[in-house]
Amino acid sequence: MNLEQFFADRLSSLREDGNYRVFADLERHAGEFPKATRYREDGSTQDVTVWCSNDYLGMGQNDKVVAAMHEAIDKCGTGAGGTRNISGTNHYHVKLERELADLHGKEAALIFTSGYVSNWAALGTLASKVPGMIVYSDALNHASMIEGIRHARCEKRIFRHNDWRDLDRLMAADDPAAPKLVAFESVYSMDGDIAPIAEICDVADKYNAMTYLDEVHAVGMYGPRGGGVAEREGLMDRLTVIEGTLGKAFGVMGGYITGTRNLIDFVRSFASGFIFTTALPPALAAGATASIRHLKQSAAERAAHQANVARVRAALDRQGIPHMPNPSHIVPVMVGDAKKCKWLSDILLDQYGIYVQPINYPTVPVKTERLRITPTPLHTEADIDHLASALSDLWSQCALARAVA
Ligand SMILES: *Cc1c(COP(=O)(O)O)cnc(C)c1O
Repeated sequence: MNLEQFFADRLSSLREDGNYRVFADLERHAGEFPKATRYREDGSTQDVTVWCSNDYLGMGQNDKVVAAMHEAIDKCGTGAGGTRNISGTNHYHVKLERELADLHGKEAALIFTSGYVSNWAALGTLASKVPGMIVYSDALNHASMIEGIRHARCEKRIFRHNDWRDLDRLMAADDPAAPKLVAFESVYSMDGDIAPIAEICDVADKYNAMTYLDEVHAVGMYGPRGGGVAEREGLMDRLTVIEGTLGKAFGVMGGYITGTRNLIDFVRSFASGFIFTTALPPALAAGATASIRHLKQSAAERAAHQANVARVRAALDRQGIPHMPNPSHIVPVMVGDAKKCKWLSDILLDQYGIYVQPINYPTVPVKTERLRITPTPLHTEADIDHLASALSDLWSQCALARAVA
């Protein structure tokens, strides 16, 4: 078999379908978020406004976070120098874990190199090392959870998205004595919808199941201290595990789980994806701690963020640009065609200096391709007007349907 030919063929079919991923080569500007310089392939550059970042609050350039990271590098150097067990645990990691446990009202926390790894390793460990475990997984769960569950080779059931009645039906059919875990997210990042957390916890309680909530798109952003949707709704104590990332609203990098002391110690002691990898650089832990502390006591970023989300929605409505209604900060502008979605994104970038990555299969189902817009508190009125009028121009050119007011 000619493997080079095989690779090339598979890539050309991706291109034909409009699903080939082209990365925007960006240089973010600290102090001017969400502005960036884009490097084109021909070596020229362009100023762009980023409209699809998961640095939802601009914390990646927050003065306290930047200063904390500089200070930690000056103090401790760059890398951690080892796995957590073999010389890699730095005091900054310990402080960060305490901060996270406090954020979610849990006894303990454990950090991982990313949110992906935290889901993969924690779910993989809980589901494989607890004998007879049955995992109930929301149909739209993130790839990191799916991979963790798959890796565990445990019994699994997929319940319809956000459908606690379907979950109830599935749980009722299983052995009441079997240990059970329900895995779901609070804010689903592509549609921006929010899970009925209380109802899912009620069902889980009925069958004595553990609950595992991914709050990746909510930590820092919802709740009085940025503890997520479960904090906002007063439900944190009903979740066995709350998982999150340090790479989105907290603006740095890394992932974590929080839970009881024993559960966390169990994952710490048995998860391969935690044990056999170098600890996060101390500076990342220092930056994340500064970010979490800031967002625990400051609601200003959250309020400004929500206000800008409303402004973007109103501006799109004025231009008749259809966007998916949802109760979160994510504004999906539906296109419904992979090639058109890619075309729109290319023109927005090249001609308008607006960067919104097209979201195509397999991230979302075919025919639901979209531009996923993430407003931040740092987008200006002028940025918002420019975005809405650019989309309006393109909607006319592309003969896309408008929303009826
Ligand atoms: C991004 C994401 C993750 C992974 O987090 P990273 O820190 O980026 O690895 C996990 N869950 C969901 C729902 C996500 O969107």
